Amino acid sequence: MSQSTTFIELDDTYSAHNYHPLDVVVAEAEGVWVTDVDGKRYLDCLSAYSAVNQGHCNPKIRDAMLAQMNRVTLTSRAFRNDQMGPFSKQLSDITGYEMSLLMNTGAEAVETAIKAARKWGYNNKPIAQGDAEIIVCSGNFHGRTTTIVGFSSEASYKQDFGPFTPGFVEVPYGDIEALAAAITPNTVGFLIEPIQGEGGVIIPQEGFLAEAKQLCADNQVLFIADEIQSGLGRTGKMFACDHEDVRADIVIIGKALSGGFYPVSAVLADKSILGLFQPGDHGSTYGGNPLGAAVGMAAMNVLIEDGLVQNSAELGTYLKGRLERIESDHVTEIRGKGLWIGMELNTAARPFCEALQKRGILCKETHYNVIRFAPPLVIQKPDLDWMIGEIEAVLS
Ligand SMILES: *Cc1c(COP(=O)(O)O)cnc(C)c1O
Repeated sequence: MSQSTTFIELDDTYSAHNYHPLDVVVAEAEGVWVTDVDGKRYLDCLSAYSAVNQGHCNPKIRDAMLAQMNRVTLTSRAFRNDQMGPFSKQLSDITGYEMSLLMNTGAEAVETAIKAARKWGYNNKPIAQGDAEIIVCSGNFHGRTTTIVGFSSEASYKQDFGPFTPGFVEVPYGDIEALAAAITPNTVGFLIEPIQGEGGVIIPQEGFLAEAKQLCADNQVLFIADEIQSGLGRTGKMFACDHEDVRADIVIIGKALSGGFYPVSAVLADKSILGLFQPGDHGSTYGGNPLGAAVGMAAMNVLIEDGLVQNSAELGTYLKGRLERIESDHVTEIRGKGLWIGMELNTAARPFCEALQKRGILCKETHYNVIRFAPPLVIQKPDLDWMIGEIEAVLS
C-alpha cells in the first residue's frame, strides 16, 4: 500500500472537505518540482494558484526568512519594527504607488481595499453614510469572507452562507456599456480582476481595461485592480493592467508577494486614498509583521533580480504557441498571457488532469471544462518542453 493512502485517509477523516484535491500527497518541493510521500516527482503546473511564482522553497527567500526568524518575528503594530518601512518603500519604488497597507491573506487585502474605497468615497463625494456602492463583475473571484462571497456570482460560494453585505452591484465582465449604466452618484469603486483566474483565465476584450479606467476617472470612481493572482509577473508584465498601460487607483496583491513562504498581502495606492486611514480605523495583528515583511522583500527581489517577469513573457508566448498547435478533438479555446494559460475543452477537464498527474504533471481544472497551466515563473525551456510533450500525449 502506498504511503499516500494513509495521509488521504487522515485528511478525509479529520479535515473539513472544503476542497476536492487531486490525490497527490506532497512531501517536498524545489523549484518547479514537487515530490510525493511515495517518492514520485511531479512538475507543478499550478504554482499554488500563482503563490509560488518564484519556485518552491526558493533559497533566497528561505535564507531571508530564516535570518529574520532568528531576529524578531512579530511586534504587532502597537510597536514599530525595522522591516515594514523598508518593505513598503521597496513596493513604492517598484510599483510607483505612494503607500501600501500590509495584510496577510488575499481576502483580507480585498476587504481592506473595499474599506479604503468606501472611506475615500465618503470623504470626496456627497454620499450619505451607508449608501456607498462598489461595482463588481460577473464571474469574479476575490476570496471567501462573507462580504466577498456575497457579491460572487457563483451559487456554490454563497449557498447557506447569507445574509450578505449590501452595497455591491454586478455587471457582466468586460461590458463597458453595462459598467457605464451601473455608475450612480453613490458609486465609489469598480473592483475587477484584469484577467479572471478562478473564472477560467478569462481575458476581457482588448481595450476594455483602458476604457473602463477612463470611464471611472470621468465619473470620480476608483478603479480597483485585484492583481492577487494576475500580478507580480504571472502575465509577463508586473501587473496585468500594464498590458493596457492602465494605472489602477488601488492595486491588491498577495500570493506571490511572499513566494509561498508565509501569507503576505498588500493594498497599494497613493496618499490621497491610503492616507485617509487614521489610527483605529483598520488593523491586523500580523499585518506588517517583520517576518512577513522580510519574506516579502526577498520575494520581490527574486522576481526582479532573476528576471522572472521577462521569463514569463518569453516562455509564455512560446507555451501558448505550442499548445495552439496541438491537434485535439477536445480543445475548443486556448487563452492566456505570460505563463498563464487556460485551455477550454468541450468535455470535463478533471479526467485530463488525472491523466497528466499519472505522467508527472500537476494541474487543476477550474470550472468544469478548463485546464489551467501556470508553472512557477522560474521554469526553464527543457522542463517546459517536456511538459508540453506530456500535454500533447494526453490530449491527442
Ligand atoms: C486567491 C485570490 C484571492 C484570495 O486570496 P486568499 O489569500 O486565498 O484569501 C483574491 N482574489 C484573487 C483574484 C485571487 O486569485
